[in-house]
Amino acid sequence: MVKSTRLSEGSVMELLELIPDPDIPVVSIVELGIVRGVAVDENNKVTVTITPTYSGCPAMTVFKEDIRELLLKNGAEDVEIKIAHSPTWSTDWLSESTREKLRAYGIAPPESNSSDSVPLFSSSKQKIKCPHCGNTNSRLTSQFGSTPCKSLWYCDSCLQPFEYFKCY
Ligand SMILES: [Zn+2]
Repeated sequence: MVKSTRLSEGSVMELLELIPDPDIPVVSIVELGIVRGVAVDENNKVTVTITPTYSGCPAMTVFKEDIRELLLKNGAEDVEIKIAHSPTWSTDWLSESTREKLRAYGIAPPESNSSDSVPLFSSSKQKIKCPHCGNTNSRLTSQFGSTPCKSLWYCDSCLQPFEYFKCY
């Protein structure tokens, strides 16, 4: 039996960077901070630890399959995906460049929330900065955008709708 070369944690991370977030295809699951860690054992069994950004989002199951498939195709003997719920995913993990990509995509990046109680639903009194013009003259039009993880907003300054990535 020919033993295949052992995958490195670094190359696994590089592969995972190819997987777009199912909700926001312009950013990868690594950029979003969903991937918490990878480990490869001597038999090339890869363990990927992920923290869901939004539990209950149907997209989670889909990309777990994407991770498995991609790693098996690239030399992994087996793939185990562990879900870590602690620490809970925080929008503070998003880098400035990731926020920039979200803005360019027309999604208002989540506002940094320092308080511990993050509301599940966006409040209509909340002022979200429009990703198109930067004004906060916006209003909530729907709790749910294209996916349950985003809410729909309308900007009264540039008269354009936009989506807000809910942080919870
Ligand atoms: Zn605007």
